[in-house]
Amino acid sequence: MSTIISIADLAKHVGEEVTLRGWVYDSTGKGKLQFIKVRDGSGICQCVAFKPDLPEEVFAAAQKLSQESSLTITGMVKEDKRAPGYPGGYEVAIKTLTVISAAGEYPISPKEHGIEFLMDNRHLWLRSTRQWAIMRIRATIVSTIRNWLDDHGYLLVDTPILTPAAGESTSELFEVKYFDDMAYLAQTGQLYSEATILAHGKVYCFGPTFRSEKSKTRRHLAEFWMVEPEMAFFSLEALMDMEEQFVSAIVGRVLEKHRMELNILERDTSFLEKVSAPFPRINYDEAVVRLNKLYTESSDEEVKRLLRYDPANLPEGKTEGEYVRELRELLKMDWGNDFGSPHETALTQQFEKPVFVYHYPTAVKAFYMQPVEGRPESCRSVDLLAPEGYGEITGGSERIYDHDLLEQRIADYKLERKNYAWYLDLRRFGGVPHAGFGLGVERTVAWICGLQHIREAIPFARTMNRLYP
Ligand code: ATP
Ligand code: MG
Repeated sequence: MSTIISIADLAKHVGEEVTLRGWVYDSTGKGKLQFIKVRDGSGICQCVAFKPDLPEEVFAAAQKLSQESSLTITGMVKEDKRAPGYPGGYEVAIKTLTVISAAGEYPISPKEHGIEFLMDNRHLWLRSTRQWAIMRIRATIVSTIRNWLDDHGYLLVDTPILTPAAGESTSELFEVKYFDDMAYLAQTGQLYSEATILAHGKVYCFGPTFRSEKSKTRRHLAEFWMVEPEMAFFSLEALMDMEEQFVSAIVGRVLEKHRMELNILERDTSFLEKVSAPFPRINYDEAVVRLNKLYTESSDEEVKRLLRYDPANLPEGKTEGEYVRELRELLKMDWGNDFGSPHETALTQQFEKPVFVYHYPTAVKAFYMQPVEGRPESCRSVDLLAPEGYGEITGGSERIYDHDLLEQRIADYKLERKNYAWYLDLRRFGGVPHAGFGLGVERTVAWICGLQHIREAIPFARTMNRLYP
């Protein structure tokens, strides 16, 4: 009996007879040889059937394999530096082969497919090498988030998904029937974490989050995963100190563990290698001045660089000159507005590392953010913007801890006081300065993996026009 092993463990079994169990990724014949690429979840390995060494029916079976058929293969492990695969460098000389289930004609072939076709076949597309690499990196990002927080004194305290009221903005809520009432799917767990810090000091919640995002962008999903650390006795400065350590740890861990996957994704890692504390910190006011200066003073070449112009995206019927003039207009910025994604891109193009922008206008942020002292039109908020055009990956702030001010805000935002009575209680019984932030897992995956669109960063994306499969 040969041992059943994983492809990832081939190196430990050179010269032994082993059994692999998996799926046919690809099969090509060349005279007396049949090369079968087998994937088993842990990797991809080339298995070779050599006609003179095999009973006729085994070789015939090897020649007939269709893509994605499931099978077991027994054979001898050989080291061969040139052998393709992941990790590669080893191949298996086939002795026997058993088909478990012969696959019908597989819809996803190595040729180019349109994105909607691939998303319709997401349940199958997940098997392809690129998607496999992304999911492996995603899993490491998630485990690093948990491990780092657990190791630094943060307690995981789960928050509810069914909630009676808005956490942030009412326009993005999904409503669900809740017995005889209505409930909303959580768009954040933060308000509940503000309760649990008063029991545990430093906490985090980590789970799916739901936002009925009406716009179709490459950064927004209707269902995404968010980790939200919340800390008692934390200032905005302490929050930024912690975030830069946390994000650097996540990037560092992926670089350490996933060179192979980053290679599969053809990710240029030069910017990722530079991610280490401290990150630049700029005030919103300064960011607005910078953008307007870029708008008036940049050369056309500079505008192209700032907005990551790609000639492939030149709209039909437009000259480059016309298009660059349009792009330049996107840099203009009025104080008081939130940044659009071109603003974020242009700001981050000036730095090599992720950038903090802090003290946003109060009016564009949520009701619970602490005003800047003596300047209530600005608030103690901070977003972290990722380089290379990825934009916001975290959003956070100091929270209002004065009872009366918070009560006033709830009224100003036309929220129902009775829904927030418990939240106000937190300010009646031992409120303290506190702060926290949310980091979007898929935004982080898209950035680290270098993805064009967030839909590939989650196994089954939910967007305005997609709920299938
Ligand atoms: P944006 O301005 O990009 O819509 P936001 O200000 O609504 O973001 P926050 O409410 O601060 O975002 O949420 C915290 C983090 O959650 C964001 O920094 C981002 O990483 C992530 N996030 C927010 N909305 C989405 C979404 N629709 N899909 C995926 N991730 C999201
Ligand atoms: Mg939003």
